[in-house]
Amino acid sequence: MLLIKTSKELEQILDRHRQNGASIGFAPTMGALHLGHVSLVRQAKEHGQLAVCSIFVNPTQFDDKNDLAKYPRTIGQDIDLLVAAGCDVLFLPEPDEVYPADFDFGFELDLGTLDKTMEGAQRKGHFKGVVQVVKRLLKIVRPNSLYMGQKDFQQFTIIGHMIKVLQMPIELVVCPILREPDGLAMSSRNVRLSPEARQLAPMIYRALLQAKEDARTLTIPEIKSRFQEALNRPEFSIDYFHICNPDTLVELQDIHDHPKPVAIVTVKLDGVRLLDNLFFN
Ligand code: AMP
Repeated sequence: MLLIKTSKELEQILDRHRQNGASIGFAPTMGALHLGHVSLVRQAKEHGQLAVCSIFVNPTQFDDKNDLAKYPRTIGQDIDLLVAAGCDVLFLPEPDEVYPADFDFGFELDLGTLDKTMEGAQRKGHFKGVVQVVKRLLKIVRPNSLYMGQKDFQQFTIIGHMIKVLQMPIELVVCPILREPDGLAMSSRNVRLSPEARQLAPMIYRALLQAKEDARTLTIPEIKSRFQEALNRPEFSIDYFHICNPDTLVELQDIHDHPKPVAIVTVKLDGVRLLDNLFFN
């Protein structure tokens, strides 16, 4: 695996591969990698692509500087995981490579309803930062395919919208959520859970599975109330639980208003925000 730190060098190397006919698959990450991230790289390899992964903890998407400071950094272990997954190139830039002196921080994309809800409503400026960094990384890497996880549902929906609006010639591949054996969605933040909280955390996925089952017979208010009951312990605080149209992220009034509703949840447990989601069909 090549480890590249400057955008110029990365552009040159990828140009050479493109000239030799390579197709490029790209997985942007913030590091503290786990098997969920690795699955994105593996998919690129399965599709016969040159797999490029980036690790960059993007300061512009953190509204909470404390969260940024506490974000886990495990670069040695990350490199081992990527090598084992067959990653071809790791891009590990410093902030001034991603945001050079002439960078236009003012750029804003009209995201319509997509960023007015859930993470967008809870974390001011978060998706402006995400769009900023992914747009910049896509300009450097110019991949054929972009690999993102279903786990960050609103994130991949917004990036899909950006690709469409900006007419970027990139295929977005959304990869399934990888889970721990007990059902907890893998996340870099899971390492911050205390042993007690880690024991409780799988209740979130179990509550989602119950909501899916409930959706066969109950109304949305009933499903929501049973979901809250399932997590009704002092350790949990539900930031939001939405049952949405997966394309617009608008909350459904009636479960039959869309053939493939998605339930999206963020729960705070032990001071850690845990995201998860599940399609009902
Ligand atoms: P992050 O480093 O958390 O920004 O995540 C980088 C990419 O990995 C994003 O596209 C995430 O959606 C994806 N990802 C994170 N967790 C998982 C998971 N458990 N399963 C699959 N993909 C994931």
